[in-house]
Amino acid sequence: MARVITEKCIGTKDRSCVSVCPVDCIHPTESEDGGEFQLYIDPDVCIDCGACESVCPVSAIYPEEDVPEEYKTYIEINKDYYKLNKEEFKAKWENFYKQKGAK
Ligand code: SF4
Ligand code: SF4
Repeated sequence: MARVITEKCIGTKDRSCVSVCPVDCIHPTESEDGGEFQLYIDPDVCIDCGACESVCPVSAIYPEEDVPEEYKTYIEINKDYYKLNKEEFKAKWENFYKQKGAK
């Protein structure tokens, strides 16, 4: 199992989580940033330690099995960020983020 970053990261994106992750599975880091709306956890690398969840100022991070119903789409989004290339990811999720009012 993995942690999942959900909606409240949009517009916050302060990266408190990045520096506490022992396996560097939260991206994009500051130097990798390409204007993404939020950060994402790589579910294949995450060891589910919970360190990120405890430092997130807006409680955007949940264990996968506890993601609230209204945020369940973010499980797929976090996975897709690592599975798809940038163009595919944008094509699939751009409208979703637009509907959220993300800038
Ligand atoms: S749960 Fe632990 S390993 Fe997974 S993203 Fe958070 S800090 Fe990293
Ligand atoms: S700590 Fe929370 S709000 Fe900040 S970047 Fe990480 S998930 Fe997003």
